[in-house]
Amino acid sequence: MPEQKRDYYEILGVSRDADENEIKKAYRKLAKQYHPDLHPNDKEAEAKFKEINEAYAVLSDPQKRKQYDMYGHSGVDGTGFEGFSGFGGFDFGFEDIFDTFFGGSPFGRTSHRRSAPKRGSDLKYTLEISFTEAAFGTTKEINVTRMQLCNVCGGSGSKPGTRPETCRYCNGTGQIRHVHATPFGQVVNMRTCEYCHGEGTVITNPCSECHGSGRVKKTSKISINIPAGIDNGQTISLRGEGEPGFNGGPPGDLYVNIRVKPHPIFSREGYDVICEIPITFTQAALGAELEIPTLEGTMKFTIPEGTQTGTVFRLKNKGIKHLRSNARGDQLIKVHVEVPTKLSAKQKELLKQFAEISGDEVFQQRKSFFEKMKEYFNK
Ligand SMILES: [Zn+2]
Ligand SMILES: [Zn+2]
Repeated sequence: MPEQKRDYYEILGVSRDADENEIKKAYRKLAKQYHPDLHPNDKEAEAKFKEINEAYAVLSDPQKRKQYDMYGHSGVDGTGFEGFSGFGGFDFGFEDIFDTFFGGSPFGRTSHRRSAPKRGSDLKYTLEISFTEAAFGTTKEINVTRMQLCNVCGGSGSKPGTRPETCRYCNGTGQIRHVHATPFGQVVNMRTCEYCHGEGTVITNPCSECHGSGRVKKTSKISINIPAGIDNGQTISLRGEGEPGFNGGPPGDLYVNIRVKPHPIFSREGYDVICEIPITFTQAALGAELEIPTLEGTMKFTIPEGTQTGTVFRLKNKGIKHLRSNARGDQLIKVHVEVPTKLSAKQKELLKQFAEISGDEVFQQRKSFFEKMKEYFNK
């Protein structure tokens, strides 16, 4: 400690058993007397003013006062009073001093921006479309329920012809400062004004339509252009179709998630359309002209003699249009040979005859497999 400190009671000129009110009164009187505004460039008055504030900070706090009473300065003064913020530089007037000490602002006006523009919320919507709608693109109307600016008050929340008033509690700043005097200086806590919820203004004549919120829930029809080639799980974003912003902020976006319903005969892989076609065992053996489905309708397609099950034929440019170009995918025809069931006695007989006259030569794969098998076991 640089020097012997004076007794806090002595500084404020009160007795050791003075009550809260006496202490406050004494402090107010002295603070007025030594306020730096009345003594510009007077170091002594400034020091005195600091001393008064320090004493008051301790004696006005029951806990600290108790410690001070028991242990003196060392009970409340661990680090000295160097951190004391002083008052000389702050822009409050002399009249403000008591507001300042009892709940007002030691920092004057700050640059805190209340009611800053805020972007509205984004919305999500799931839209189910058919396989062909996804392939060729379509336009869909959807109903979206969202908040919209109230058209009676234009979003202000005030009855038309009236205006919100500046909040009296925070003087329009939206923030309330709490100043606690501590032995180490002033601690300033800022919190959102609970009266105006930080807006700085209060609606005194609320709009009857939106009850002062400035927004109402509405369902509106939105038309969505779905581009050809879109796939399941992809999202279309509609700029500005979300909820309105606050305080002039931009609206949010609407994200439409696309679900493509499965098709009864087509499936999709990228931009290719896949179709599995069952063929008869005779068609496979002899070749056949088939009628096959495509996205645009049916067409004739010839499979050659001796087509094996699982063979894939590719129809160029019969698939889905690319999202970002005019290219098209292909259609893949995958055939699978269906083994006949529920055969009549006559059909069975004919097949047996067929088998009897068919040597290994007509079943090349089978022939090669059994040759390999024999070779393997005869080693
Ligand atoms: Zn309204
Ligand atoms: Zn307020």
